[in-house]
Amino acid sequence: MKKVLWEELRRSEFEEAVRGDAIVIIPVGSMEQHGNHLPVNTDTSCCFTVAVRAAQAIDEFPVLVLPPVWVSYSPHHMTYPGTITLKFQTFVEVLTQIASCVHAQGFKKIVFLNGHGGNTPTIAALRVKLPSEDNIPAIGYTYWELPSVPEQLRKISQSDKGSIGHAGEMETSLQLYLQPALVDKRKLKWVPGVLGDPSKGTRDKGERLVNAAVDALVELLRGYHDGTLDEDLPWRILPHGRKALHKKIL
Ligand SMILES: [Zn+2]
Repeated sequence: MKKVLWEELRRSEFEEAVRGDAIVIIPVGSMEQHGNHLPVNTDTSCCFTVAVRAAQAIDEFPVLVLPPVWVSYSPHHMTYPGTITLKFQTFVEVLTQIASCVHAQGFKKIVFLNGHGGNTPTIAALRVKLPSEDNIPAIGYTYWELPSVPEQLRKISQSDKGSIGHAGEMETSLQLYLQPALVDKRKLKWVPGVLGDPSKGTRDKGERLVNAAVDALVELLRGYHDGTLDEDLPWRILPHGRKALHKKIL
């Protein structure tokens, strides 16, 4: 199998990947409570798996996956044990600096793949901040919001009604598929801090959702690479002169 994990490459292999106009994925997870039945790395394992499988599925150009960012923005989960969060500004800085290092090595296509609902607004904001303030080309998505995945999610979920929830039907399903040994099957029930019904989780639903997200990401990466991705970034609609002026102000 081809190498897609950033940490496994050697210097010359990075140079080769830059020459091949590689896409670099930065998975962004979390370390936060997921009820009494799921591990605190739930979000990290989901986005990292989707990123790695999509990278492995693409042969036309190189795709590299960074080690997942395991700590992010989860102050709303600090009430419960196991949660570790950064402050908001720190989180933004961490993602900016990681993307900045990737870009400095010559990579021109960077994708954040988020796995935690609390990070979604920040990832959306970085899509504007990084290109306009830092001159770093980067896009970002949450895996269950990738194009076509919301429809699949509505079909797969029975009690969560198309929502990813929090440690409910869908995330329990994902973990029963991805990390079954870490799921406590005696405790598949709702407790405070859980959104949705864990008892409705099944391995099959988890596998279907992972496959849907991988397929969607593969298509998105192909579109990003060949320039046909329909991105609705605000800075894209500004005429050239306007963008230059904007940069001068910053
Ligand atoms: Zn989660």
